[in-house]
Amino acid sequence: MSGTALTYFEGAWHEGNPPLMRATDQATWLGTVVFDGARAFENLAPDLDLHCQRVIRSAAALGMNAPVSAQEIQTIAMEGVRKMGPGAAVYIRPMMWARSGLVMPDPDDIGWAVVLEPFAMPGFDGFAANFAEERRAMPSMAPTDAKASCLYPNSARAIASARRAGFNNAVMLDVMGNVAEFASSNIFMVKDGVALTPIANGTFLAGITRARVMGLLKADGVKVEEAIITPAMLRGADEIFSTGNYGKVAPLTRLEERSLQAGPVTRRARELYWDWAAATSRY
Ligand code: PMP
Repeated sequence: MSGTALTYFEGAWHEGNPPLMRATDQATWLGTVVFDGARAFENLAPDLDLHCQRVIRSAAALGMNAPVSAQEIQTIAMEGVRKMGPGAAVYIRPMMWARSGLVMPDPDDIGWAVVLEPFAMPGFDGFAANFAEERRAMPSMAPTDAKASCLYPNSARAIASARRAGFNNAVMLDVMGNVAEFASSNIFMVKDGVALTPIANGTFLAGITRARVMGLLKADGVKVEEAIITPAMLRGADEIFSTGNYGKVAPLTRLEERSLQAGPVTRRARELYWDWAAATSRY
């Protein structure tokens, strides 16, 4: 089977778009929802275990006790991925949300589902970005230690203005004015052969793909450093690329008015990721 979403909810698989939340659920009106995003493609499911573990940590960060273990989520996700057919490109989204509580969620009344959607893997064509007006918040201003749905409307505003200006995505700065990440993925820049990525300072999701790519590049002999990256440094980069579960490694080919190429480090990162995934994550 392919082409339709599959959701595991309340002990059974549902096709299409089943209802998950109800009128009085805390999450419906107060927004306590967390999720994670993993990928299956080409019969590979890289770092699925880490994505399943992170949704439990995200839930805890918002005061929710996960009613299911990471291992159970992983087993369910793989059962669903197999149902979607060999080689299917799937977005795997475990979710948890609060069902009761006034402002503060009841930690033990938690809904959860594993949603699988057929999503093609993007190519390596590259994308364009501008700098967003919107900023990443300090940890004291928003639950930045969780992959929480409430963080995404601000990313959506950044992407909406980027699109209006003819770009695909936006570079978001932190409150100090340094580069944090793209609106929906992490950022790397390359200068004189060194790969730099912003220090995980708690303002943005320091992703699973970011950590994986840092490790793979280092093991391959590339110098990788976490650094404070100013907008001026980014404007002077030799290469810029994004990392994230959705497309893994993608080259930025335009920053504002400046065109860039998918350079050697970006290409190597992409190749190393696919080689590593093929060697370790086949199902
Ligand atoms: N930042 C944001 C805002 C994201 O939505 C994502 C995608 N989940 C990432 C970074 C990349 O994280 P990961 O590599 O863990 O998917």
